[in-house]
Amino acid sequence: MNENKLREQICRLSASLFERGLTFGASGNISVRLDDGWLMTPTGSSMGNLDPARLSRLDREGNLISGDKPTKEAFLHQCMYEGQKTARAVVHLHSSYSTAVSCMDCRCTQNVLPPLTPYYVMRVGDLPLVPYFPPGDMGLAEAVRGLSDDHHAVLLANHGPVVAGGSLESAIYATEELEETAKLFLLLQGHKTRPLNDEQVSYLKQKFGRK
Ligand code: ZN
Repeated sequence: MNENKLREQICRLSASLFERGLTFGASGNISVRLDDGWLMTPTGSSMGNLDPARLSRLDREGNLISGDKPTKEAFLHQCMYEGQKTARAVVHLHSSYSTAVSCMDCRCTQNVLPPLTPYYVMRVGDLPLVPYFPPGDMGLAEAVRGLSDDHHAVLLANHGPVVAGGSLESAIYATEELEETAKLFLLLQGHKTRPLNDEQVSYLKQKFGRK
């Protein structure tokens, strides 16, 4: 897909996320890897109303070469791309259900959500919790970098998910699957639940290529 088409796709899919309440205000950001750099959503912009011509265009080193200044969370995207060498897109949202789960006192920080459905296992797999850091603290970059080799999706504590994908669509679908699974997880609180068992999970991971 050429750069102009990618610019339009970023704006169209961002608006779709906004209209469905998956992002709000000026929160959330998206990036797409190009052969010679990145396209990124600008800082302080609403995902509901992006202008394809004003998206931040970065070179290979991450320097802004055209468009508005990139999101202040650009470092999260760079840290995911460093580990996920084949990723073509990264999505970061403050979506309600995933963020609610990121605020829970969870015992298993290696994998925050249970394997409730096969689609979650196939699209997301394991979801580690990244410890909380205040905005602007570069400790967050180090923590994400430490997980991105082995995980294409992570959940930032008291913040929200960061998800990489082989295309923008697949990164968004995985983020939506994560959000819906977080919603199911919260709906099931207090109910006796039967997640997929280890055997069912390893079958899916073997067959569909996730560890
Ligand atoms: Zn954020």
